[in-house]
Amino acid sequence: MPLHEYACEDCGRKDTRLVLKREDEGALKCRHCGSGRLKRLISRVAIHRTEADRLAALDTSRQPDEAYYRDNRNIGLRAKKRMQELGVDLGDAFEEKLEKARTTTNLEDLTSD
Ligand SMILES: [Zn+2]
Repeated sequence: MPLHEYACEDCGRKDTRLVLKREDEGALKCRHCGSGRLKRLISRVAIHRTEADRLAALDTSRQPDEAYYRDNRNIGLRAKKRMQELGVDLGDAFEEKLEKARTTTNLEDLTSD
């Protein structure tokens, strides 16, 4: 899926958008403030590689600190690591749910400003 994450250069909010053609990118508008100045963030491939690194570094025997919970990318990471340790395959549906939970702007609304 040609999903990309964008950050609005005016209000700073992030959003995941479906962009089928590269030239459609210029027509994107921020859903929060209507600005046309959206900047594409790192690709999903990069996000997944980063997640693998974070998973490897995660120690499930210790309680994570506050900063860990503030980071959207950590949503579900602990559960996933535990499942991996138990040898449970969560499948693609779980991955998609995680992706949604991580890219929603609601959590950022709570923690920004
Ligand atoms: Zn905006």
